Amino acid sequence: MGFVYTEEQESIRALVKEFAKNELEPRAPKMDQEEKLDPEIIRMMQEMGLMGIGIPEEYGGLGMGVMEKSIVVEELARKCASTAELISVQNMAYMAILKHGSEELKQKYLTKAAQGAICAFALTEPSAGSDAANIKTTAVVDGDEYVINGSKCFISNMGPDEGDFVTILAITDPDAGVKGFTAIVVDRDAPGFSLGRREEKMGIRAADVSELFFENCRVPVSNTVGEPGKGFNYFMESLDGGRIGMASQALGIAEEALELAVNYAKTREQFKKPIAKNQGLQWYIADMATKVEAARALIYEAATTYDRGENVSKIAAIAKYYAAEIGVQVADKALQIHSGYGYMRDYPLERMYRDARIVPIYEGTSEVQKMIIARETLK
Ligand SMILES: Cc1cc2nc3c(=O)[nH]c(=O)nc-3n(C[C@H](O)[C@H](O)[C@H](O)COP(=O)(O)OP(=O)(O)OC[C@H]3O[C@@H](n4cnc5c(N)ncnc54)[C@H](O)[C@@H]3O)c2cc1C
Repeated sequence: MGFVYTEEQESIRALVKEFAKNELEPRAPKMDQEEKLDPEIIRMMQEMGLMGIGIPEEYGGLGMGVMEKSIVVEELARKCASTAELISVQNMAYMAILKHGSEELKQKYLTKAAQGAICAFALTEPSAGSDAANIKTTAVVDGDEYVINGSKCFISNMGPDEGDFVTILAITDPDAGVKGFTAIVVDRDAPGFSLGRREEKMGIRAADVSELFFENCRVPVSNTVGEPGKGFNYFMESLDGGRIGMASQALGIAEEALELAVNYAKTREQFKKPIAKNQGLQWYIADMATKVEAARALIYEAATTYDRGENVSKIAAIAKYYAAEIGVQVADKALQIHSGYGYMRDYPLERMYRDARIVPIYEGTSEVQKMIIARETLK
């Protein structure tokens, strides 16, 4: 590809690639089977500064852009999608605080996140999946506190041992529709806040995803992110950037699956020749390579557009839609090329295939991405 990386981008890729190869690859099968990230991996990523890639240096972060975040997530996803998901969500979850939070909120939460506190982003509720405006959780002001009631489901980065704070979207003015929704930061130890079930998932099994409950949960009003009533906009804006990270997760899986498929096709012999000599399989490889290059180009276009401060709603949705879909297709074809061996847990393909399947679902399904692309195109 003709994309020219900066020195900083080259060096963060090299650092994360080495970490992924040496530390993640050997641990990924066990983490998947035990459905838990190795705390040592989280500690190492905290030391590398990966919990605060986009947090400005004045708050202790790396002060990098979405392009660098995309590179990090891509390289992590090649070896362990659960780990990539943690970093992708982490570096999206604090964005509303970074862009709209008070100085007090930034000092408190950005500094914490940069030091390694795990943060989450809670929009989804049992009644509000694709229809994010249908949330029911309420936050009522009582003196200098909010009293929050409701629940959230499928929240990443929250689990038995993970999740230090979460930015939630709650209704503060029931008569104002989405203009009555407010973004509020809730600490894990806030009174009235509790975690429900940790979900048992098809893929990204090592990543924590849980239900959250708020029962007369009390949070200081000073934990409001930006202006009350603007939370829905802040959440949609965070998702625009977050989708580029999720697309990178799919890209990383697809790149690795392609590389594994190429190596396997060149070495596995049937009918007295390597299976790569069959034109049928060569066409699979050609399609996979084309899809990977196209996804990479879209993601880097979206990331650099974001970093220039331009509107990314359309290009981020295109990148996420395309990368999510081809991530599943490429993992599937790589598994097919490995056939019986790919189906076995001895090889990473069955895990990668399961892991790839989440990307067309979260941070907006593929159908929702198409709604956004159509809306932006028809403007
Ligand atoms: C592992 C995992 C982690 C997650 N992490 C988080 C998180 O950290 N924070 C968070 O807030 N949420 C999170 N989610 C929630 C995720 O974003 C939602 O699952 C997703 O937005 C889809 O909502 P839903 O599952 O309720 O599906 P639904 O909205 O019920 O959709 C069901 C189907 O209908 C389709 N559909 C719905 N409306 C339309 C329409 N108008 N036109 C065409 N098709 C439509 C959908 O595309 C889908 O195919 C997570 C989910 C999972 C599975």
